[in-house]
Amino acid sequence: MSKFSLVMHGGAGTILKQDMSPELEQAYMTALKAAVDAGYELLEKGDSAIYAVKSAVMVLEDCILFNAGKGSVFTKEGVQEMDAAIMDGYDLSAGAIAAVRNVRNPIELASEVMLHSNHVFLSGKGAGDFAIRQRVRLEPDEYFFSQFRYDQWKSIRDSDNYALDHSLEELMKDKKFGTVGAVACDVKGNLAAATSTGGMTNKKYGRIGDSPLIGCGTYANNRTCAISCTGHGEMFIRSVAAYDVSCLMEYKGYSLEKAMELVINEKLHLIQGEGGMIGVDAKGEVAMVFNSEGMYRGFRNSEGLNEISIYM
Ligand code: ASP
Repeated sequence: MSKFSLVMHGGAGTILKQDMSPELEQAYMTALKAAVDAGYELLEKGDSAIYAVKSAVMVLEDCILFNAGKGSVFTKEGVQEMDAAIMDGYDLSAGAIAAVRNVRNPIELASEVMLHSNHVFLSGKGAGDFAIRQRVRLEPDEYFFSQFRYDQWKSIRDSDNYALDHSLEELMKDKKFGTVGAVACDVKGNLAAATSTGGMTNKKYGRIGDSPLIGCGTYANNRTCAISCTGHGEMFIRSVAAYDVSCLMEYKGYSLEKAMELVINEKLHLIQGEGGMIGVDAKGEVAMVFNSEGMYRGFRNSEGLNEISIYM
């Protein structure tokens, strides 16, 4: 029996203690803990890593505080389009969806793609048709609405920028990536990763970020690691960030932590890529690395470690 662990993130970015009320901080901590516990308890029962990451992500998709599922950010057109991916490190099977609307749990749809389609990645209307065929739970637009995200969008909708491009003091406060993700190593040493997001505020032209792209925002391989990323997606795509960690481990013999540090603090840093990632290896070791002010994160393992944190 190997050590088992589950790690989660709820987004990275300019998350400063002075901008957070004690109540809001407590709400984030409580939601993260509920999600980590939900995933961990499945591992404890002997369930698979892939089932644990999907279940944990669904808890945060249902929580309005995070930019995934309910509470997703608004596009330039003022709608919510969501992306998600899931990958099983046991056989490298994967499922992903992009630009879907009205799907309550995008990670569930990504999992359906992995298990019940002949494909890996579905987008837009086709992904929506597949959701109906698979009887995935749908919700009306109002279900996904959050006043906070709407106000964020209103403040920049008349510009050509998407949220994090602003360097103005006022808008820096909104430089938060609220994507959610989970990675796990189960009792058999199988690894899995899942990531779900609304993307970035004011995104346009059908923009898709790194989260649903296998190897960029999400990757799992039993030989190396499981990774889920959060941050400025364009840079994570250009860096093929999640797969790069796996390659550094496989071809250079790096430890999980050393590989993640190199990708986040050197490679991404060089192209001004802001964000972070969580990872787990096949021995159940975990790492959480970010180059932003903070990252909502938490983990729990079979040695009794159990932590939730937000800031540096
Ligand atoms: N990486 C996501 C994207 O670019 C955003 C996030 O992490 O919140 O779509």
